[in-house]
Amino acid sequence: MPIYEYGCLDCGREFEKLVRSDTVLECPECRSRQLERRLSVFATATSSSDAAAAAAGPCGSCGHPGGPGSCALH
Ligand SMILES: [Zn+2]
Repeated sequence: MPIYEYGCLDCGREFEKLVRSDTVLECPECRSRQLERRLSVFATATSSSDAAAAAAGPCGSCGHPGGPGSCALH
């Protein structure tokens, strides 16, 4: 679940927010919804190539009947 850092455009307060699909984003200080997303904590911890590798999973995990190494991805 991604945690994003936001800055409030109205009062300048910066805060981190764990964002779910139903999360309403507002400033904890002034309740403004004029927010600017600064960065994702996850994005700084892992590069995009690492994320892609994790999504693909280890070799042999795709369930191809030919076994590990026989599918197009592994
Ligand atoms: Zn604010």
